[in-house]
Amino acid sequence: MLYSVKMRAARGGAHEQGGSHISGAERIVAEEEIADNLSSLLQRALTHTKGKADFIQMTVEAVEASQIARAPFLPIVSFPVESAAQGREKALYVLEQAGVQRQAARAGLRMLTEMRENMRGAMVLSAETGKRMDQAGQRGIRVTGMDVEDDAGFTQWLQRQDACNLHLREAAVLAAKVAAAPGIVAELCWSDDPEYIAGYVAGKGMYHRISHMKEYGSAQGGRAFFVQAGTDLAALRAYLEEQIVLVEVGGKRNDGQVRRDCAGYQKKRAI
Ligand code: AMP
Repeated sequence: MLYSVKMRAARGGAHEQGGSHISGAERIVAEEEIADNLSSLLQRALTHTKGKADFIQMTVEAVEASQIARAPFLPIVSFPVESAAQGREKALYVLEQAGVQRQAARAGLRMLTEMRENMRGAMVLSAETGKRMDQAGQRGIRVTGMDVEDDAGFTQWLQRQDACNLHLREAAVLAAKVAAAPGIVAELCWSDDPEYIAGYVAGKGMYHRISHMKEYGSAQGGRAFFVQAGTDLAALRAYLEEQIVLVEVGGKRNDGQVRRDCAGYQKKRAI
């Protein structure tokens, strides 16, 4: 039996009482791993760069094997760029290559860039027109219920791609679940963590990491999922928010030598 272990933290009260979101994370683990994960998630909630949480909720729920679906990781390809402007141009290019119409890609990028307040989740946009398709407002669609199938194998796989940081680890898992969703064409994301300026476009079965998508110090981040015309939005939402997915390492692309010492990674990974 596996268990879903979840944490969400806010400041100024619970999220639904208007508290501002600080941190959230989920693991799907075996029974003997529950205690360690609860403790490291609590630590994470209390020491987040966004500030100290005064509301922390943790839940543990059993998951039946029959409820679990699987999805492959997307191989990571990195694009080092010199500025946020260059990064956003690159993102537009990759989105188009992945099948998003130019005007839709531009509209999506503009929406994320011009958002005054960060959303908690993602917006769903038409890959043809860029029009927002979900009705989820400022909350957006929250992708939950995913984790790595084989931690050790995943760590090695990340190391081979010179991709050791925690942000990337979590984004790679989320992007893999999203890419396997019905109707998804591409995903665009950059973090709201002021210290993390990289972002990505997932599309065409690849995770395109772009080194610079915003200015250092900016707390503005966002995420958009571009979907095909005719996508069943209710089914998409149910999959993204409810389906439990374990993500597996598969395929041989990008398998190179370890280019950096990822020694600190295993420790961070527990957080
Ligand atoms: P992060 O990479 O965690 O800093 O998140 C960047 C942006 O993605 C956030 O500002 C949210 O809008 C969105 N986001 C974060 N977590 C999720 C999630 N689990 N599902 C969907 N969107 C998310």
